[in-house]
Amino acid sequence: MEPKEALTYDDVLLMPQYSDIVSRSEINMSRILCSDAGTLRLALPILASPMDTITESEMGVAMWQAGGLGIIHRYNTIERQCALVDQVIVGANANAGAAIGTTGDYLDRARALVATGVRILCVDVAHGHHVLMKEALDTLRQVFGDAVHIMAGNVATLEGYNDLVDWGADSVRCNIGGGSICSTRIQTGHGVPGLQTIIDCAKTDRGAPIVADGGIRNAGDIVKALAAGADFVMLGSLLAGTDETPGNVINTRHGKFKSYRGMASKDAQIEWRGKTASLEGIATTVPAKGPVEHILEDLQRGIRSGLSYSGARTIRELQSRALFVRQTASGQAESSTHILRR
Ligand code: IMP
Repeated sequence: MEPKEALTYDDVLLMPQYSDIVSRSEINMSRILCSDAGTLRLALPILASPMDTITESEMGVAMWQAGGLGIIHRYNTIERQCALVDQVIVGANANAGAAIGTTGDYLDRARALVATGVRILCVDVAHGHHVLMKEALDTLRQVFGDAVHIMAGNVATLEGYNDLVDWGADSVRCNIGGGSICSTRIQTGHGVPGLQTIIDCAKTDRGAPIVADGGIRNAGDIVKALAAGADFVMLGSLLAGTDETPGNVINTRHGKFKSYRGMASKDAQIEWRGKTASLEGIATTVPAKGPVEHILEDLQRGIRSGLSYSGARTIRELQSRALFVRQTASGQAESSTHILRR
């Protein structure tokens, strides 16, 4: 069969367009994460990934303060996850989502989280276009009705996105195999380049927010994801190594580092399950980066500037105005900093 061509972030650029935006403060990048349970408008369309080296209570609080949202990971006991959620919701009067799976204790976990005050559950599995997801969404809707927002994923196709929405998801995490610490494509040969997944899913006639998850390396990638149709981006590596991530600073003679690992890495699987299944992630360290606030401030400035280059005051406007061009390998080289050193 003829393979379909699929593009990712580096393959494209957005064409600068006439702009009448005089001040970047005219730009509003907020997006709504809604459900029948209520409307949650986030001033910054950024979510922190439910990974054990990214989002516990400190990240949850910092994300909320910056206008985004953290999703507290599920790689712990129900009591521990509820305590983390409680620290965000009650301790710091902030909001956060919380992740659950599709098997095992997921329903007890969901009940306990909702009883603790969670209104955004994230059904967090590697291959979300799956019968177990359908069953879990069915059950969650039966138990909670419309009282919670249910984010679900991950999917790599329009069919996957549409099915998850039809099965009850309020928002969908899109992209399989694109994460910086992910080895799914190497291990299984499956996945779709990240930007293509967003382009494909954005063809939907359903309205659930699209979360572009994984493989986002800078503000430019965020602008491209939003322009292609994403409502939010979810970040791991861009937030990794900041003060608010779980885990200690590792002092070495090359500087300070923190751990960052895929949840399907050997280290993470052994720690949380006591055994390994298919290894589809890696564990690594990244330089310590200081407060996450500074990273988010920088990203926010980049996104604002990005909207302005397209002459767009809102993300919706960006999506309707966006003009993508494809770039060649030499275009890519030109697009990255390339000062001559002779
Ligand atoms: P990053 O922002 O490129 O670092 O990607 C983070 C995303 O990678 C997460 O939000 C997950 O969707 C995904 N992810 C996390 N752990 C793993 C793993 O072990 N294998 C594959 N994907 C993973």
